[in-house]
Amino acid sequence: MVKLHDKFFKPFISAEEIDRAMTRMASEIAKDIGDEIPVFIGILNGSFMVVSDFVKKYQKPCEVTFIKLASYEGVKSTEDIQRLIGLTQDLSGRTVVILEDIIDTGNTLAEVHRIFKNERVKSLKIATLFYKPEAYKKDFKLHYVGIEIPNKFIVGYGLDYDGLGRNLPEIYQIKQTEYMTNLVLFGPPGAGKGTQA
Ligand code: 5GP
Ligand code: MG
Ligand code: MG
Repeated sequence: MVKLHDKFFKPFISAEEIDRAMTRMASEIAKDIGDEIPVFIGILNGSFMVVSDFVKKYQKPCEVTFIKLASYEGVKSTEDIQRLIGLTQDLSGRTVVILEDIIDTGNTLAEVHRIFKNERVKSLKIATLFYKPEAYKKDFKLHYVGIEIPNKFIVGYGLDYDGLGRNLPEIYQIKQTEYMTNLVLFGPPGAGKGTQA
């Protein structure tokens, strides 16, 4: 178990399982891309570890760059996506693959599509290591998905909770604490016992 700030997280997906999913995605993408030289674009901050491990598995010539978007506050996604670093090179005619750590509501992905609307790329493919199908609200196609997960907050392997947890080599899932469960079942401490909480 790991404690970050005020919350507890329990082990959820091992480093080995992540590695297998990444190997599978890299070989699928390499097969589909053929002889093109792709531009892999990571979405900072969360995807830095995905990109770093992915390009080592992609054993053909490729370019690597990043854009920086921010949507999350604490453990909740917001629709207000900030563009902190945009595209810095001309991508016309290029085969572009977006590398994401996780797709949740799809709000960040919508912003990615807005960014690419006026770029005359040859193709734009979306690859994500993690995907929460229950939370996804958009229609954009996800071309490569590593691991589907339930709609619960996770940390590790690049993903943070208020800045912490990115350096964990495996994935942890937020733990519904005994306190929170008791709160739902029995109300706040002291409720029904004639005491003040
Ligand atoms: P979306 O815009 O699809 O709702 O969320 C995309 C971004 O929010 C991800 O790239 C990631 O940075 C962050 N995010 C979404 N779900 C989680 C989660 O379970 N844990 C963490 N740490 N970040 C998440
Ligand atoms: Mg991300
Ligand atoms: Mg974050």
